[in-house]
Amino acid sequence: MEFSNRVAVVTGGASGIGRAAVEMFAMRGAKVAVLDVDEAGGAEVAAGIVKRGGEARFYRVDVARAAEVERAIHDASERYGPIDILVTSAGIQRYGTALTTSDEQWAEVLNINLNGAWYAARACLPFMRGRGGAIVNVASVQALASQRNVFAYTVSKHALIGLTRSMAMDFAGEGVRVNAVCPGTVDTPMLHWAASLDPDPPSVLEACRAMHPIGRIARPEEVAAVVVFLAHESASFVTGAVWTVDGGLLTLIGGAP
Ligand code: NAD
Repeated sequence: MEFSNRVAVVTGGASGIGRAAVEMFAMRGAKVAVLDVDEAGGAEVAAGIVKRGGEARFYRVDVARAAEVERAIHDASERYGPIDILVTSAGIQRYGTALTTSDEQWAEVLNINLNGAWYAARACLPFMRGRGGAIVNVASVQALASQRNVFAYTVSKHALIGLTRSMAMDFAGEGVRVNAVCPGTVDTPMLHWAASLDPDPPSVLEACRAMHPIGRIARPEEVAAVVVFLAHESASFVTGAVWTVDGGLLTLIGGAP
């Protein structure tokens, strides 16, 4: 899959799934804008790509702040040209039920996981309408099912599917495809942070491995590969789709749509 002369914006591109997508787009010829709050990680990813002869630029952006998102995407379009691809991978997880989640946690999770995707799409869509474009939102199996004690996260990811489907309908006639991927457990810093909250992190990781029918968790590249496919013209008839990338997890528990 070639992405020469394509301009891609990736939120959460400093780490994990977003970072793997950034690397794949750049390797295939895209110019990539990396938006993230992690300055060290983001700068490192962009510098690595430039060193290898690719084109990438890091923007220190909090996706929960619409003005920061718009500024970065506007700058990237001036530098590289109109935006063709948006991947929204920036996300956080917080623990709690409907009774124990604080107002602050709720706002933080919804602002980043849901509003952040909307702000980025809102800034990219004007470049895509009529000329074509692809948006891929990184949701979760928790967009289609739930686990205990992840109330705000589950709500944010379910809503991200609604955002995906609604935008897919509104812009299908203008050449913009909008899809979502729903990963199972992926070996990224987010997973290791979550495991570190448990008194016995190795047993949490083992339980994650064991619950996937495939018998292991995903590498970030295995999710990014699906993201990159959905962003490419090869997926030209795919829009409004919700793709599980979960090693069979939702099939096992009967939640696959
Ligand atoms: P990660 O922590 O490695 O990457 C997330 C990135 O988002 C980080 O670079 C972080 O700095 C960035 N980020 C967080 N808040 C931000 C903000 N306000 N503004 C800009 N950037 C921000 O985690 P990951 O596992 O690669 O997660 C990527 C996406 O995949 C997330 O949306 C997550 O919910 C989803 N996901 C992850 C898993 C998993 O098991 N790791 C499973 C399903 C879905």
